[in-house]
Amino acid sequence: VGAARSAGDICHWFEGINPSARRELSLMGELRRGMARGEVTMVYQPKLDLRTGRVASAEALMRWQHPTDGFIPPDRFIPLAEATGVVRELTEYALRAVMADCARWKAMGVDMRVAVNLSAGDISCTDFSGMIRRMLSEHGLEPHHIALEITESAIIRSPETAIAVLNRLRTSGLRLSIDDYGTGQSTLSYLKQLPVHEIKIDKSFVTALCHDRSDAIMVRSTIEMAHHLGLEVVAEGIEDAETTKLLADMGCDYIQGYFIGKPLPFDLLTENLLSAPPSISEMA
Ligand code: C2E
Ligand code: MG
Ligand code: MG
Ligand code: MG
Repeated sequence: VGAARSAGDICHWFEGINPSARRELSLMGELRRGMARGEVTMVYQPKLDLRTGRVASAEALMRWQHPTDGFIPPDRFIPLAEATGVVRELTEYALRAVMADCARWKAMGVDMRVAVNLSAGDISCTDFSGMIRRMLSEHGLEPHHIALEITESAIIRSPETAIAVLNRLRTSGLRLSIDDYGTGQSTLSYLKQLPVHEIKIDKSFVTALCHDRSDAIMVRSTIEMAHHLGLEVVAEGIEDAETTKLLADMGCDYIQGYFIGKPLPFDLLTENLLSAPPSISEMA
């Protein structure tokens, strides 16, 4: 112990670790290369405003088409990127891609706000809001064009730094959402202190909403509580008209899910937005 390790020792150690860990490490190298080679792209899932019946915002979700392994879902590579520190590069990549697309929408006269998902590592960096402001001005965008989604579990990692960063982002004019609301551990104590505009009720509470009495009670009272706190509510994972109708009756502000629209590449979403703007009266 204490002696310098030679490159040979490290190679030997690397050979010795279990094959799945080794695959995961090499996957992160491939992800870095994949970003440079255009294998990583963003798709956009619409959010429907239940008051106006219109889509005025979307969530950006990352897609990775690996050259030999095919499609790798974000639930596989994002947690690995978080654990290895690669996630900061991923977020910067996502933000640049999203802002470029936002600028294209703006130039077409389509007024869209796009939400980007963040990880714990992003909001532990104190200059994160400075980076976002510089990027916005490079792309000729206003802060209201971008929203940021962050889970409670990401905030809980280092709550003081996270809350300071979120405060700076909010002051800069970005919209902030708590993602997967209801699945974190410290829901109520932190919600009070978080400078966010909206919460997104996790799809696990929404899936059986029309058939499960406890889910319905929890969602209804969460919406009521959020409104009393001055927060707006998004429900995610809506797959049918019945659930849409129920959420509208409960006073939910926005909904998102396969029923409204699956995540689509820029061109396809733009086509949908321009040709047939979804209207809530046709659905409910
Ligand atoms: P999330 O942010 O909570 O995103 C919602 C997930 O639910 C997405 O999965 C979306 O495709 C899926 N979804 C949407 N509507 C429905 C529905 O009606 N039914 C069902 N069953 N699923 C629906 P996806 O794209 O696989 O992303 C999974 C997670 O990976 C995201 O959860 C987010 O935590 C993470 N992620 C995705 N893209 C990014 C990214 O660019 N950066 C970061 N940091 N995380 C990302
Ligand atoms: Mg999200
Ligand atoms: Mg979510
Ligand atoms: Mg999620």
